[in-house]
Amino acid sequence: MSAIDALPPLREVIASHGLSAKKSLGQNFLLDLNLTAKIARQAGDLRECDVLEVGPGPGGLTRGLLAEGARKVLAVEKDSRAMAALAEIAAAYPGRLEVLNADALEIDPTAYLTPPIRVVANLPYNIGTELLVRWLTPPDWPPFWQSLTLMFQREVAQRIVAQPGSKAYGRLAILAQWRTEARIVMDLPPEAFTPPPKVRSAVVHLKALPEPRFPARAATLQRLTATAFQQRRKMLRASLKGLHPQIERLLEGVGIKPTSRAEEIGLAQFCALARALDEVSPR
Ligand code: SAM
Repeated sequence: MSAIDALPPLREVIASHGLSAKKSLGQNFLLDLNLTAKIARQAGDLRECDVLEVGPGPGGLTRGLLAEGARKVLAVEKDSRAMAALAEIAAAYPGRLEVLNADALEIDPTAYLTPPIRVVANLPYNIGTELLVRWLTPPDWPPFWQSLTLMFQREVAQRIVAQPGSKAYGRLAILAQWRTEARIVMDLPPEAFTPPPKVRSAVVHLKALPEPRFPARAATLQRLTATAFQQRRKMLRASLKGLHPQIERLLEGVGIKPTSRAEEIGLAQFCALARALDEVSPR
């Protein structure tokens, strides 16, 4: 294996900076720099792009992104123990790495980055879905990013690319496929991480579409799908009745049988129902 940079191996970095993994922060580190460079390559040519990385930890993926030529990386890390290790990387790549010791849920990355922007991250499992939903549901489209290249537990990755009728199909599939082209691009076994998690992981690449596939308001579609899939085995006329007193009429109006279940309904119909709900209860 060839070294991707002149910095010390990650095991040494972790030992010298006392970065023992904390479960509460979802810390499962990637220590193979050839693997992190491979993940960075899944995001495409980064040379003309700024990159947002959430949760750099000891910096394995950060080094992959920089070695692959990212114009600038903004790395947002909650764990202050990682700051010294990340400062060493910043020194090795002058002017190209900015590190924020912050909670990714609390900051506005656009204040630090210049378009075009891509997001690449090995996300902490406890905030991964929340961040993804936020990135997918701004009121306006296109978003601040061109693409998201994200590591998830494999089961979450499957929910993002799932099709109607499958067990994994739900809110995440609809929100992701509504506004992006989403595919699983890598599969990783637990042994790829230190410490190894209990489950397999996968990298999903989501490319922002210039326009959503069907018109709808993001907030309405989000509320509708969250409600519909909360009780996925129930008929829609029952699971959605809290959304509008005449939900049966609205369902029929957009060609959905009120006795059908959420997992049988495709993206186009969910968007049509979201529009119908907004027509009867405009905000
Ligand atoms: N990128 C590193 C890698 O691939 O080896 C670490 C990935 S580890 C799965 C997730 C990282 O996210 C940890 O470094 C953790 O401290 C950080 N993290 C957890 N919660 C965070 C938050 N709310 N905001 C920013 N970083 C967070």
